[in-house]
Formats: sequence, C-alpha cells, structure tokens
Amino acid sequence: MTIVREAAALRVALEARRAAGSVALVPTMGALHRGHRSLFEQARRSCGTLVASVFVNPKQFNDAGDLQAYPRDEEGDAAVCAASGVDLLFAPDPAAIYPSGHATAVTVGGAALGFEGDRRPGHFDGVATICLILFNLVRPQTAWFGQKDAQQVAVLRQLVGDLAVSVDIHVGPTVRDPDEVALSSRNRRLAPADRERARAIPRALRAAVRAHRAGADPARAARAELADLDVDYVDVATFSGLATLVVAARCGGVRLIDNVPLDQPALAGL
Ligand code: AMP
Repeated sequence: MTIVREAAALRVALEARRAAGSVALVPTMGALHRGHRSLFEQARRSCGTLVASVFVNPKQFNDAGDLQAYPRDEEGDAAVCAASGVDLLFAPDPAAIYPSGHATAVTVGGAALGFEGDRRPGHFDGVATICLILFNLVRPQTAWFGQKDAQQVAVLRQLVGDLAVSVDIHVGPTVRDPDEVALSSRNRRLAPADRERARAIPRALRAAVRAHRAGADPARAARAELADLDVDYVDVATFSGLATLVVAARCGGVRLIDNVPLDQPALAGL
C-alpha cells in the first residue's frame, strides 16, 4: 500500500494504475473501524485500484469543539487500510486540500434540507465540497458510503446528479457491535453506562420496523423505546427513495445518529 499526502503525488500514483482497471474510492475521516473495513472489502471486490482517503474535513464541522475532540489514529488507520486491500491511502493535511486563497464551496439543497442539515448548519455543504474535491482528484468510477449516514448518501446522490459528476455511488450496510449499537468513531467516547443506554437506539429501529409491518406508526413505536435518551429527532424521512426511520439522540454528551429503511432493514444491519 502506498500512502500519499499531496494531490500531485496522488495524481502520479493513480496515472500509473488506471490501466489496471477501474478505480474505487472510499472517503473517510479515519479512526477506522469494522464499518469502514466492510466498505473497503465491498469496494475491493469490483475494482482494479482501491483508494481510501482519511481526512478530518474541517469544513463539515459546525462545532469547533467537536472537530477538536474528533479521534485521530494515523498509524492504526494505515494498518487497517493495508489489511483491507487498500492500494492507495490518501491522507492529506488540511492545507493540501484548502490552500490559502481557497474560496469555493458547494451548496446543496434538496436532500440536505431537514434532519442533520437543520441541526448542523453548513455540514452537508462541507461534505459535498470535500467529496467533490476528492472525486476530482481521484476520478473514481465508484465511490462507497455507509447506510449509517443515510442522509449523507442522499446528499451525495443529489450532488452527483445535479452537477453531472461521473461517479457511481454505492452504499454498504450499517455494521453494528454485538449489542447492535452501530459502529461509529463517536461512540468510542461513550462511558459504559451510556453505552448501555445507547442500546435503546437499535431497539427503537427494530420496534419501528415491526410497527411498519403491522400498519402502525413507526415513529411512535421508536419514540417509546427512547424515553431514557435526550432525543433530537425521531421521524420517517425519504432518503434515496426509501422510507427511512431516522433517529438522532444524545447519550452522555455524545450525539448518535442511526436509521433503518423500513422495507429493507438488512441495509441497516438489522
Ligand atoms: P466517517 O469516517 O465517519 O466519515 O465515515 C466514512 C464512511 O464510513 C461513511 O460513508 C460512513 O457512512 C461509513 N460508516 C461509518 N460508520 C459505519 C458503520 N457502522 N457501518 C457502515 N458504514 C459506516
């Protein structure tokens, strides 16, 4: 595996490889876990060259404290990438992506409105901007994202559709711990008692699917399971054409999001 930190070095490394078949990109913010690994492994099966990016994108954090607290583990990330079949790891510094004078950003509407878009102003514009930069640098045929961030997937589909970006967006199912809490870089910060309380979230998703199948109100069924958490929203959204029960809740100061497409719970790892 080759690690590159500059856009120019990335271009050179990729030019040599393009002849070997299609290029797949998995963008991440590092602190890699089994959720990321499963995206690498799925992407690996259908490409000639697998590129992973690790970049904690300052433009998608609307809270400076959250950016500061975001976990970083460069060595661990490189080891996970190497073990998961990544050919090229792109790990730039912020100045390599946003050099002084950088002054252009993408503004997304549609799928970016509501839910995370409302709670985290500017977040999806930051996500869309970094992903467009990465798509332009890597020029992948496919890019892989997790169902865990269902609205993000919908936003990126909106981006590539509206701006005619030539990349196929693929989605990998949510990977969960044995207690069914979705893996995330943030839930590493949960204290044991809060972790126990966080189990209400997957219980709520399962209750929503059961209610939906029985013709009852999925959001109401989910809300009933979440009484012990500081709930931000519980609702049914339509993301990428799928009716999806979405939850955001705070647990011991950690904000967790999760979701289940009501007719395709397997996509949520349930
Ligand atoms: P992040 O590093 O949090 O920006 O995530 C990078 C990619 O991994 C995004 O497409 C996420 O949706 C995806 N991802 C994060 N957690 C999981 C998970 N538990 N299961 C599957 N994919 C995930």
